Amino acid sequence: QAQAVKPRATARRPPPACSVPLELVFVSAEVAPWSKTGGLGDVMGALPRAMAARGHRVMVVAPRYTNGGKDIAKYKDTKPVAKSVWVELNNSWHELKYHTTVRDNVDYVFIEHMCYQREGTPYGDASGPFADNLFRFALLSLGALEAPLNLPLKRDLATGDPLNEVYGQDVLFVANDWHAALLPLLLTARFRPYGVYANARCCLAIHNLAHQGSHEASRFADIGLPGEWYGTLEWQDPGDKQRKKTINVLKAGIVTSDLLLTVSQGYAAEITGRPQDARVDMLLAQRANKLRGIVNGIDVNEWDPESDKHLAATYSAYDLSGKAACKRALQREMRLPQDPELPVIGFIGRLDYQKGPDLLLDALPILANLDCQVVMLGSGAPDYEARLREATHEFGWFCRGHVGFSVPLSHKIIAGCDILIMPSRFEPCGLNQMYAMRYGTVPIAHATGGLIDTIQDYNPFAKGEGEGTGWTFAPAAIEPMVAALSTAVKLFREEPERWRALQLRCMFNDSSWEHAAQQYESVLCEVMADKV
Ligand code: ADP
Repeated sequence: QAQAVKPRATARRPPPACSVPLELVFVSAEVAPWSKTGGLGDVMGALPRAMAARGHRVMVVAPRYTNGGKDIAKYKDTKPVAKSVWVELNNSWHELKYHTTVRDNVDYVFIEHMCYQREGTPYGDASGPFADNLFRFALLSLGALEAPLNLPLKRDLATGDPLNEVYGQDVLFVANDWHAALLPLLLTARFRPYGVYANARCCLAIHNLAHQGSHEASRFADIGLPGEWYGTLEWQDPGDKQRKKTINVLKAGIVTSDLLLTVSQGYAAEITGRPQDARVDMLLAQRANKLRGIVNGIDVNEWDPESDKHLAATYSAYDLSGKAACKRALQREMRLPQDPELPVIGFIGRLDYQKGPDLLLDALPILANLDCQVVMLGSGAPDYEARLREATHEFGWFCRGHVGFSVPLSHKIIAGCDILIMPSRFEPCGLNQMYAMRYGTVPIAHATGGLIDTIQDYNPFAKGEGEGTGWTFAPAAIEPMVAALSTAVKLFREEPERWRALQLRCMFNDSSWEHAAQQYESVLCEVMADKV
C-alpha cells in the first residue's frame, strides 16, 4: 500500500490545494512551441507552466525531433545533460541523451535518439505513420521514467536556484495519449518489482480516443516486457468479425493508471456513456469512476487581441475598431470583396473526417445565397485538400480556402472573422472556439464533447441584450449547421447591437489556464493522497 508523500517546505507562491507541492512529470509526444501538430502540443505548452505558477515542481518530457536536421534550431536554447542513460528495448540497448531548458519554472526535457531524427512530423511522413512508432513511443515512456531518477534538475522552489539533485521517486507522472500510455505499465512491470517508484503515481490524460496505438499482436516484442504482461496489452475489438487479436497501448494505459483524465466533461460523458464503436469505450465505461473531465484552457498570452503580433491591428473589448481593420486585411489577403456588412465565417483545422470540413464544403452552394463570406484554412487528407482548392475555384467570389499549416494565418482568421464554424463530428475539447471568443468571433459548433462545455447557446428570449456566447447544433449534418449559420448571419446583419453584446460576452469569457490548473491541482493532489 502506498504511503503519503513526505512533507516538504512549502513554496513562497500561492498555496496549492495539497499540503505539499506536487512533483509532476508530464510526458507527451508533442510540446509547443518545440513540436505541435494540434491541441496536444498546445496543452503541453501551457498546462505545465500553469501548474508551475501554482508552486509545483514540474518537468515535461518529449522527444527531440530534428526533422532530418531542419528543426535543430528550434532546440537552440536547450543544453545537453552530461549524463546519458542506457535502456533496453526490443532486445538491444539504446543510449538516450537528454537536452534541457527551463522556462517559466518548468524543466523541459527532450530525449535525443536516432528514431526522432528522421524527416517528417512527430508521427510519420508522406508515406504514412512510421512503422516503428510503437518502439519510438515505448522509448519515450522509458526515457521519461529514467528522467526523474537521473537528471539533476531539481531547483529550490522558492528561489529557482539549482540544487544539483534529481527529482527522485515520489513523482506523479501525467502520461498523455497513447504515445505515453505505456508509461504506467512500464512503471509497474520494470521499476516497481525492484522497489523503485513505490510511491509514484501515474495519470493518463486522453486528448483524443480516436488514436489508441493499436498494433499487430506480434509487435509485443518491441516493448521488451516479459510475456506475462501480454494480457494487459491484448485487445480484441468486439466489433471485429475476424476476431483478430491486437495490442492496444491506450488500453494498457487505461487499466494500469491510477486515474484517467480527459479534456472536457462533455467528452468524458460521451466516451463512457454511449460506447459507439465498441472500442475501448467499453473499458472506459467500466472505469468511469476513475475518469475526470477538465476543460483545457488557452494560452492567453499567445492568443491576445491586444498584443497579437500577427494582426493588422490590435484591439480590445473596449474598442473593436482594430477588429474591423483585421477583417478588411483578411478579406484583402484572401482576395474577397472588402465589405464590412458581409459576415465572414472562418474554419481552421485538420482536414480530417473528425473536423467535418466536408459538411462545410457540401454546404457552400446553400451558403452562397446567405450574404456571407467563407474562409477556410486546413491541411490533412489529400482528398479534402483537393476539395478545398476546388471550392476556391468554384465559389471564389465568396469562399477562399488555404491549404497548409500556417500559425500566422490562423491568428488572422480568428481575429478577422465574425463567426467561427466548427462542424466537428466529435471534439474532445477544441481550442479554436475559445480562441475565437477571446477575439470577439462568435463560435458555431456541433454540440459534441468540449464544444458543449465551452459554448453557451445564444438565447434570443433573454431580456436586455441576450445571453450566451454562440450556437451549437445537432446532429452533425448540413441542415442544422446551415440553420445555425443563417440565424447568426441574420443577427449580425439585422441586430448589430445584440451582435456587439454577444461579441463582448465572448470576449469577457475566461478561458485562461488558471481555472483549469486549479482543477488539475485538486484532482492530482487527490491521486497523490490515494483518495481517488
Ligand atoms: P486537434 O488537436 O484535434 O487538431 P484542437 O482544436 O484541440 O484540435 O487544436 C488544434 C490546434 O491546431 C489549434 O491551435 C488550431 O488553431 C491549430 N491548427 C489546426 N490546423 C491548423 C492549420 N492548418 N494552420 C494553423 N493552425 C492550425
